[in-house]
Amino acid sequence: MTGPATGTTALACVALGSSATELRTLDVTGCGADDGWLRVEASGICGTDVALAAKDLDAPVILGHHVVGQVEDLGPQAAQRWGVTAGDRVALEEYLPCGSCPACRAGRYRECPDTDLWGGGRRVGLVPVDESPSLWGGNAQYMYLPPNAVVHRLPPDLPASLAAWTLPLANAVDWVSRVGAAAPGETVVVIGPGYHGLAAVAAARHAGAAQVLVGGLPRDASRLRLAEKLGATTFDTSQPDVAEHVRALTDGRGADLVVDIAGAGPETVSTAMSLLGARGRLVVAGIKNPALASIDTAALVRGMHTVSGVRGRDPESVARSIDVLAGGGAGLGDAPSEDVPLAEVGQMLGRLAAGDGPETPHVVVRPWLSPTDANADRSAS
Ligand SMILES: [Zn+2]
Ligand SMILES: [Zn+2]
Repeated sequence: MTGPATGTTALACVALGSSATELRTLDVTGCGADDGWLRVEASGICGTDVALAAKDLDAPVILGHHVVGQVEDLGPQAAQRWGVTAGDRVALEEYLPCGSCPACRAGRYRECPDTDLWGGGRRVGLVPVDESPSLWGGNAQYMYLPPNAVVHRLPPDLPASLAAWTLPLANAVDWVSRVGAAAPGETVVVIGPGYHGLAAVAAARHAGAAQVLVGGLPRDASRLRLAEKLGATTFDTSQPDVAEHVRALTDGRGADLVVDIAGAGPETVSTAMSLLGARGRLVVAGIKNPALASIDTAALVRGMHTVSGVRGRDPESVARSIDVLAGGGAGLGDAPSEDVPLAEVGQMLGRLAAGDGPETPHVVVRPWLSPTDANADRSAS
């Protein structure tokens, strides 16, 4: 069998809880007939990682669940089930579904109770490091691929910085196109110019939206500028006349679709509702804190609006995301990636938690990058 030689080790950033992390060197074990190993190329940091790293964890974990890499080794049964061979580049979903519940049997593994983040489910980047073989998250040089891993093959020549968009763009495709039903010629508004917000701009452009507007707060200025680079018009959601402003930008029609991806309080939901035109759709991604939001039922009924909640993505959205990226990324190549070596992951998670992150929301752990290389890259750009 090929793959990691006996005695191979992997450097990993282990989150200990309460914002503490440490680098550990862990053993890469052999693989059986039904599992495998991934050589991690890139692991995107999302808001969930930032929140998890800051909280009091029950047990140390290797975070990182937006992972792409190269299949280093795998058993014959795994190869058959995943449809990949050693050496293939893949994107890994965070789901570790049971494979036998009604949702799994219907192919809707994101709805498997075993994967439910809020119900104590197990996911890539959340399994304790004490559980053999320890390497369950993307913030490490190698990652274990258990029998129930969900992988998607990537084109061999897709640049790593674009490949790292696979999952956030798949989420955005699911929310904007599949659930939001964005159609050519429509106006799509995205609230929240973060990692998923930029991906949603690309998804809306790919869906043929005639106009893409992105709303954010004054503190989001640099990210709103990035959204403009991707072809969006931006606005300030904290202005009292925001609904009139958006109506003026859309010739009085309002939005066909609003996707609310803002990660803060529930007030963006009522703002989002106020931007909808006739038969407008509102898609809410992410639970607000506090969770209870108020909705103007007069506008809802009179406007015949639809409100949907979304989480994660279906497998078809991952396939579409990979197609979009292979075709150039619908502008995402214009959003720079901030590459983080393993030794700097803890510091970066702290910066992001404090709202002091880099200008780009595309922050990517590159486990084989040495801190010196990363600094050299930054000073050169
Ligand atoms: Zn995530
Ligand atoms: Zn299941």
